[in-house]
Amino acid sequence: MATTFEEMNCAFPANLAEALKLMADERTRGRPLAGGTDLMVQWESGVLPMPERAISVKHLPELRTIEETDDALEIGAAVTHMGLRRSNLVVRYLPSLADAAATIGGYQIQTMGTIGGSVANASPAGDLAPSIMITDGEVIVASMRGERAIPVNDFWTGYRETDMAEDEIIVRFRLPKLPAEGVEFWRKLGPRKAQAISKVMGSCRAIVENGDIKQFRVAIGSVAPICVRLRAVEELVTGKPLNEETIAAAEACAAESVKPIDDIRSTAEYRKWVTGRMVRGFLEQLLG
Ligand SMILES: Cc1cc2nc3c(=O)[nH]c(=O)nc-3n(C[C@H](O)[C@H](O)[C@H](O)COP(=O)(O)OP(=O)(O)OC[C@H]3O[C@@H](n4cnc5c(N)ncnc54)[C@H](O)[C@@H]3O)c2cc1C
Repeated sequence: MATTFEEMNCAFPANLAEALKLMADERTRGRPLAGGTDLMVQWESGVLPMPERAISVKHLPELRTIEETDDALEIGAAVTHMGLRRSNLVVRYLPSLADAAATIGGYQIQTMGTIGGSVANASPAGDLAPSIMITDGEVIVASMRGERAIPVNDFWTGYRETDMAEDEIIVRFRLPKLPAEGVEFWRKLGPRKAQAISKVMGSCRAIVENGDIKQFRVAIGSVAPICVRLRAVEELVTGKPLNEETIAAAEACAAESVKPIDDIRSTAEYRKWVTGRMVRGFLEQLLG
């Protein structure tokens, strides 16, 4: 183990193929390092031991693009939060993700921190997770064995745990676009309006047709070891008229669906209540 940054051996591969080759061999494998906005803090504070080797992935050209297909956006893992909020494609087709990226830290963090780093860090307070989960998209990981698409809702397996193997890195995200008749909302509740880690945050994607809720997907973060989709709420409201009766039932169901903990940022009781209010807020916003 290294004990200072100077002792750490950091490789700067020129492209993805070189990076995967380094990751494939135990003797050259290193901790993927993107913006470093989580890792540097974790290493410096001792939360994580400093590894002997790191592999910079932030400058890999294959990880830095945003591409549009017929039904999805393919977003490279090294796209920064600033890149997300400034992308016309993301603003148009994944508006909740663009809004969430715009609330992360300040400009310095947004220009260094990446979507891949946020997702791989697997914190329940990672602000991008809800907006990614409501798309029902995929995380594409790669190794020398090839690429693998993991449904985003299966990617996080526990607190700071993911479905990635040791030699894999995230290369991109395939996130289905918001349909023309749909809307997305993002909401973050923290102790203040800027530079705040979330107490509770969430996103929804919805389609309302002739006053009935045709589709409702909602994901909430900071209320469980991983960010969660509120499936019971989704099932409860789908096909129902968008009215106060449905909204009140959804609010109660949402508060009951989550089992948060007390921690330094908030209490479990408050988080349950806020989850219900957040779902109510999303549905009321749909009413216009
Ligand atoms: C002052 C400050 C304020 C912050 N505010 C917020 C906030 O408001 N909201 C929020 O959500 N976060 C916040 N963060 C946390 C942080 O900015 C994000 O989680 C960021 O997106 C992490 O990305 P990164 O590129 O810096 O990751 P890194 O720190 O480089 O890496 C994080 C983890 O991801 C892994 N990793 C990185 N890229 C890949 C890849 N392509 N494939 C596989 N593994 C990979 C690393 O090995 C590591 O485990 C803040 C951090 C700081 C320091």
